[in-house]
Amino acid sequence: MFVKPDINIAIVGAGVHALTLTLHLLQKRKDMGDRILAFDPSGSWLSQWHRQFAMQEIPHLRSPAVHHPAPDAFNLRRFAESRVDELHPPYDLPGTGLFQDFCKAAIEKFKVGDRVVKAKINRLEPLNRHFRLGLDDGSSMVARRVVLATNKTVVQIPKWVSQIKGDYPSNSLVHSHNLDLRSLGSLAGDGGDRSWRKGNANVSA
Ligand SMILES: Cc1cc2nc3c(=O)[nH]c(=O)nc-3n(C[C@H](O)[C@H](O)[C@H](O)COP(=O)(O)OP(=O)(O)OC[C@H]3O[C@@H](n4cnc5c(N)ncnc54)[C@H](O)[C@@H]3O)c2cc1C
Repeated sequence: MFVKPDINIAIVGAGVHALTLTLHLLQKRKDMGDRILAFDPSGSWLSQWHRQFAMQEIPHLRSPAVHHPAPDAFNLRRFAESRVDELHPPYDLPGTGLFQDFCKAAIEKFKVGDRVVKAKINRLEPLNRHFRLGLDDGSSMVARRVVLATNKTVVQIPKWVSQIKGDYPSNSLVHSHNLDLRSLGSLAGDGGDRSWRKGNANVSA
């Protein structure tokens, strides 16, 4: 049975890896724009990246200015020519806002702003020589090729956490993935309220 694919390439996830792949593909094949779709529950590029940098109030990247999603490694440096104060020592680490604006400009330049479908993919099945992707709204789509860019990181919570007895402030023990510094106010000079440690909460071995 011949099945005509709806799209050529489906990318599951719309994080920085998905965007990098998309821009590199389009650099090589400009005509592919309408045949690539990314799928992400957020419906937009880099939502996870922006969320984490905002929640942890990170002022600049830890990677130098040549590491970014656009195909030309020096693009970000050129983009920053009028914003050199946003390249931080020791290796010209891009400021968070600079990086965000650069990615936004790259998304506009390659015209991929509308290439993210707001959906979680919860099923993937081979279909002749293609794949059928199941979307969380119940619909499906057929793609010639599928790239999983869902980030392999799985949050690990040690077993002993569930064994802690007693009450403790909910913001005193969170996984770094969920740590939102914006809700904590200034921590400068704050030794923390340790009263809950004095016997109210303990870990049984
Ligand atoms: C605090 C912090 C600082 C960092 N600083 C840097 C830095 O300076 N430089 C650097 O290079 N890296 C940095 N990183 C690492 C960087 O954030 C990750 O390497 C990067 O986000 C991984 O990109 P990704 O595209 O693989 O995954 P993600 O950015 O996590 O994107 C994966 C996407 O897949 C989606 N998804 C998952 N499952 C499905 C599904 N079933 N269907 C549809 N969509 C799905 C998710 O919603 C998500 O949007 C930092 C990370 C942290 C936590």
